[in-house]
Amino acid sequence: MNAATLNIAGHAVSPLHYINGERIASAETFDLFSPIDQRVLGKIAQASPEQVASAVTAASAAFPAWSQLTAAVRRDYLHAFAAEIGKRKDAFCEVESNDAGVLLSRMQHGVAPRAMLNLTYFADHALTLQDHMIVTEQATHYVKHDPAGVCAIITPWNAPLMLTTWKLGPALASGNTVVIKPPEWAPLTCSLLAECAHAAGLPPGVVNVVQGSGVVTGAALVADPRLARISFTGSVPTAKLIAGAAAQNLVPCSLELGGKSPFIVLEDADVDAAAACGALMYRNATQVCLAGTRFLVHARVRDAFVASMKSVVEKLTVGDPREPATEVGPVIHPRQHERIKAYVARAKAAGANVLWGGEPHPYGALYFQPTMLTDVAQDSEIVQNEVFGPVLTLQTFLSDAEVIAMANGTDYGLGGVCYGAEAHAKGIAEQVRTGFIWVNSFGIRDLAAPFGGCKRSGNGREGGDWSFEFFCDIKDVVVPKKPFVPSFSHR
Ligand code: NAD
Repeated sequence: MNAATLNIAGHAVSPLHYINGERIASAETFDLFSPIDQRVLGKIAQASPEQVASAVTAASAAFPAWSQLTAAVRRDYLHAFAAEIGKRKDAFCEVESNDAGVLLSRMQHGVAPRAMLNLTYFADHALTLQDHMIVTEQATHYVKHDPAGVCAIITPWNAPLMLTTWKLGPALASGNTVVIKPPEWAPLTCSLLAECAHAAGLPPGVVNVVQGSGVVTGAALVADPRLARISFTGSVPTAKLIAGAAAQNLVPCSLELGGKSPFIVLEDADVDAAAACGALMYRNATQVCLAGTRFLVHARVRDAFVASMKSVVEKLTVGDPREPATEVGPVIHPRQHERIKAYVARAKAAGANVLWGGEPHPYGALYFQPTMLTDVAQDSEIVQNEVFGPVLTLQTFLSDAEVIAMANGTDYGLGGVCYGAEAHAKGIAEQVRTGFIWVNSFGIRDLAAPFGGCKRSGNGREGGDWSFEFFCDIKDVVVPKKPFVPSFSHR
């Protein structure tokens, strides 16, 4: 462990950038805190715009050779990369639990295996991409997926390992090289990813990581005219800045943004099943883009639902995310904690009533009680805005038409949940304008299925073929069947 290396729960993690296969320091650094207890984890290098440019230069230089490998060779590299994650599984889990406050149990059973799968699934899937031929009387069209070039990957702090690998897998598998800008509040597992890429023997420049803030490092990256793609997951305001910068160079962006997803409970729902699922919305202290945060409950089952969900929520264990029994951990940062408190205070001032919670949790400075607010108007701030903390709202309805209008009555359109008799719930789900919606369930995902939002929740879809559509340029190579005769009157 050299002087610059951090020791996180006994694991060595570099706080430096990873550019062209080397660890690079910066003159500037910033302090990283753990949300668990706000202890300083270390100083992280802050990339200057010049260092960002050097990472794009390295990725550009690595692109020709990497893009010309066969998909099978890249698959082997990515399987080796995933195997390196597997070897360091404990480090990934403990480090992300410490820097992002994610439940250690969730890291071990959900996130770490999924990170490996994000690489191997897309590596394998690249072999099945349908390069195809269109044969006409005149010519044969060979339609190919070409890698786009250098891709920027920018991710948020609530799920850095999962989200970064979810983009990295298809970007690399299809022959692109990448520059990753990790979230500054939880940057460490992206640094471990660089370690794994190195150990797996990926050529220098194929994967680069530049640490730093959004306003300096991120902004310099998205303004670079050499980028071919920007894949971004984060908030709506940041997406507007990134899309604006990308527009200057006409760089295509994939934007996976926030949500204010409805959790619908129909009159014919299994109320206790809905309530048990509802309590899951507090997972990761509701710092989950796809959580159902607006409960829309049929008025005739409202009291039974509230009693049932309250009894589940009262038993939730709030505490240190590293403890196996913990179900709700801290929020990420004092700024986020203040924001959550302010949302609740303004909602109460506007007439909201607290069904449960409503206050900071005594466990520690960055903990907040799982909260449910009711008597909230559809056009109120608390119903319309993403809180990104454990504060949910509950409204009632009396008809299908009413609940569909309420579900669709925000600017967001990411996800949703609908509990009810299956045919009824499916019928309602089909009329809710979101990128995905779960019927009598929550969180079932498959890497082959599309993921993304509509309206202000973003554009584009990730997953399966959709990821490759984004990270590839589709090219038509046209070969005439008869000798070509040049003619000015030819169409
Ligand atoms: P954020 O938008 O503040 O930051 C996301 C990333 O963008 C960070 O790495 C940040 O450094 C970077 N960034 C900030 N300003 C930038 C700029 N000007 N140029 C380039 N990069 C810049 O989001 P956050 O607070 O980290 O994350 C929470 C948000 O992410 C929530 O809105 C949540 O819903 C959303 N999210 C969406 C999904 C999804 O798949 N739809 C998944 C997880 C989180």
